[in-house]
Amino acid sequence: MAIEDLLARYEAGGGRLAASNAEGLPVPPALHTALLTCMDSRIDVFALFGMKLGEVHVLRNAGGVVTDDVIRSLTISQRKLHTRDVLLVQHAGCGLTTFTEDDFTEELAEETGMRPPWRTHAFRDPVVSVRRDMALLRRDPFLLPGTKIRGFVLDLEDFHLLEVHEDGGSRDDAVA
Ligand SMILES: [Zn+2]
Repeated sequence: MAIEDLLARYEAGGGRLAASNAEGLPVPPALHTALLTCMDSRIDVFALFGMKLGEVHVLRNAGGVVTDDVIRSLTISQRKLHTRDVLLVQHAGCGLTTFTEDDFTEELAEETGMRPPWRTHAFRDPVVSVRRDMALLRRDPFLLPGTKIRGFVLDLEDFHLLEVHEDGGSRDDAVA
């Protein structure tokens, strides 16, 4: 079973390595930044942005979408651990583009007899989803005024980052 395998890897040195990697790091992220992205197991956020441990709060969920719980984490991140900027990265070909809110809810209701109290945040176009989530963050009353938010769509074929702008544009040259 996979969990036993993972625990064996922990025993074989994972635990010691993690402890030594975290040694001496302060709790507040050094770059004062939080990154929200998808749980997709192919996205190595540390490699992608050349990040080191201790630099950024990494929040991940299905889609990398802004939910109540993401707001909860970002608010704590900002107000208790001094982050200011939010980097949002969703991706093309995301699992959340493979079904609709209604179909998924319907499937669950058929199987369990209940509708979930949460939304899936399914989307068709990640650019639209990133733009919507940037606007949600912008309007959130609990995030600090002046929070800098930048949103991107990552292509998992070539790992190209496309910047999305709240005003409706998206352009290719904004990464630099
Ligand atoms: Zn995804």
